[in-house]
Amino acid sequence: MSILSGLFGGKTVSTPPTSGVKIHPAVDDGVPGGKKGFSGGTLTCKCKTDPVKVRVSAQTAHNHVCGCTKCWKPAGAVFAQIAVVGRDHVAIVEHGEKLEVVDPSATIQRHACKACGTHMFGRIENEGHPFHGLDFVHTELSNQDGWSPPEFAAFVSSIIESGTPPDQMPAIRARLDELGLPPYDALSPALMDVISTHVAKQKGLI
Ligand SMILES: [Zn+2]
Ligand SMILES: [Zn+2]
Repeated sequence: MSILSGLFGGKTVSTPPTSGVKIHPAVDDGVPGGKKGFSGGTLTCKCKTDPVKVRVSAQTAHNHVCGCTKCWKPAGAVFAQIAVVGRDHVAIVEHGEKLEVVDPSATIQRHACKACGTHMFGRIENEGHPFHGLDFVHTELSNQDGWSPPEFAAFVSSIIESGTPPDQMPAIRARLDELGLPPYDALSPALMDVISTHVAKQKGLI
């Protein structure tokens, strides 16, 4: 065997061990399946008393785990889990007075509980944005099973910005692959295509 084939032959590159690698509680024991015909549920913040409740009256789409520094994560989780749903299907049903927008200057207006910090929904008010009309929600905040399952991992490299040591990245990416959540350092190719298509249409190019 030549040196080159030794270096570049597939078998010599070993996958890092993934046991003990944590991503998010909703996927660490395997990605759950969604339910056909599932039509939504109620998200509840983490407050022990007077929690904020938000009703989501449709199945979600594009669920994924996200490594960005803006998405809300449960305590101890490295990634967030986040999906989208039409904004007409999101309604505050209890204790909306506890909500505030985390960063009014951000593209996504994340409405969070002032008491416990949980993000209840994220909304894009800019009508020119490719994802206008879709709200971002964390379905783990509901007791119902059957939400659309996570399909990929977005902004994986960004977890370093939250303090994950860079040398852990190969094991984390390997674990994401093992779970069937292809790791991307932006959004998934399908969603990046949606954004670029929107931009090209605005420019009149397509
Ligand atoms: Zn709360
Ligand atoms: Zn995110």
